[in-house]
Amino acid sequence: RKWLEDKVALITGGASGIGAATVRLFVQHGAKVTIADIQDNLGTSLVQEIGTEHTIFVHCNVAIESDVQYAVDATVAKFGKLDIMFSNAGIAGKFTSSILDVDYDIIKNVLDVNTVGAFFCAKHAAKVMIPTKIKGSIIFTASSATVICAIAPHAYAASKCAVLGLSKNIGVELGKYGIKVNCVSPHLISTPIVMDALGIVDRETGDKWSAEGGILKGVLLDEEEIAKAVLYLASDDSKYVSGINLVLDGGYSTT
Ligand code: NAD
Repeated sequence: RKWLEDKVALITGGASGIGAATVRLFVQHGAKVTIADIQDNLGTSLVQEIGTEHTIFVHCNVAIESDVQYAVDATVAKFGKLDIMFSNAGIAGKFTSSILDVDYDIIKNVLDVNTVGAFFCAKHAAKVMIPTKIKGSIIFTASSATVICAIAPHAYAASKCAVLGLSKNIGVELGKYGIKVNCVSPHLISTPIVMDALGIVDRETGDKWSAEGGILKGVLLDEEEIAKAVLYLASDDSKYVSGINLVLDGGYSTT
């Protein structure tokens, strides 16, 4: 069964990791997808791999409002509407050992991409969904750091907790239009964002570390697993699900 037949999605951070896995899964399920990212080479290669009938790439820095608006407009121009906004682009920022070491540049960059970018994505998705009466789905990638806040860099944890607050807040406002708003919150996956931050050199080492470090011993959380959760939240099978934080951490946050 195809879960996203006739749906149109925009995925930020769609050129790599969780975003790219979600692009692939959405297309398998019948969706048309805009890949919005700052990594033009990766984004255009993904379009070539999947095909221009199903995907387009748009260069988009989510911290710049006009870029996000352009990505939404390009989606509507190419595919006719927008049903799903997956606001997923993110950066980790520097791992600092103490709040005493945090400086303005670290805080500003992380909050600009992870939090301000999420605001812009929600705003411009809602601006096209509401007048076109689309009962859409807005999904943010938050993090298990919304529950286990000390696991991540300070600014990162703050940026993702802010995204969770934003999603719950606007879920009430947009619920009036039938638009659902949710977060998906992964635990650690050895995508580039984590490998770069932790200095892990290859995927195999990262996957081993990830599978052994979790609660479900030997079970690997990877980006395909997150994509399946996003697929559920994007589809009509979750039509009464709004305001949730779907934490995929194998139970880590219960310890
Ligand atoms: P990734 O590094 O593979 O992907 C991140 C993508 O975001 C990249 O393609 C990158 O180019 C893009 N990006 C970065 N800054 C951008 C900007 N300003 N505008 C547009 N695109 C930008 O890592 P990932 O793990 O797939 O990360 C996706 C999301 O998942 C992020 O929000 C991240 O914080 C979140 N997350 C990841 C993990 C993990 O363990 N990997 C855990 C929890 C949450």
